[in-house]
Amino acid sequence: MKLIIMGPPGAGKGTQAERLVKELNITHISTGDMFRAAIKEGTEMGKKAKEYMDKGQLVPDEVVVGMVKDRLLQPDCEKGFLLDGFPRTAAQADALSKTLNEMGIELDGVINIEVPREKLMARLTGRRVCKSCGGSYHVIFNAPKRSGICDSCSGELYQRSDDNEETVSNRLDVYEAQTQPLIEYYSELGVFLNINGDQNIDIVLKDVLEVLKQ
Ligand SMILES: [Zn+2]
Repeated sequence: MKLIIMGPPGAGKGTQAERLVKELNITHISTGDMFRAAIKEGTEMGKKAKEYMDKGQLVPDEVVVGMVKDRLLQPDCEKGFLLDGFPRTAAQADALSKTLNEMGIELDGVINIEVPREKLMARLTGRRVCKSCGGSYHVIFNAPKRSGICDSCSGELYQRSDDNEETVSNRLDVYEAQTQPLIEYYSELGVFLNINGDQNIDIVLKDVLEVLKQ
């Protein structure tokens, strides 16, 4: 299976990616890991990427696509792969398609983990951090025994500024604006697979496996 996984922040994409690669025995390629590895190994593309990052600039699409290509040429990708964190824009998707064509690789599917926006807001704004010990809680998934108070040190819990409604809402806006053309791009290619991510994580995985069989 040769797959791409995508989904908004808070959709549980990382969890599904980890379980899916185990289930299908394919290689997980996360762009973040790939970047770190290419730079560490000092590949040509890794050196190029580092140049941009050292200057505080965004790494251009062709460099990122080049790194993805290097990664896909590794023997562990022959059994199949799950690309995670890339592409993020329609332009990147187009560049990736060209590269995959050159390599004779055909995608089996692009999995989109979909969760309603209000649910994402609740998940992403629910984190609370202890002022005293830094302990982390979540009002839905990992609530403290007493509201607003740390279980381990009785310190006061607060919401970090990057977890507030406005910041989270902006993040989701940016994601949606970038991703909508990507969804259209892969829909036109007939490989786009929407999965309901607003369910128990076991059921989400089951749905993904089910839709891949078809
Ligand atoms: Zn504490």
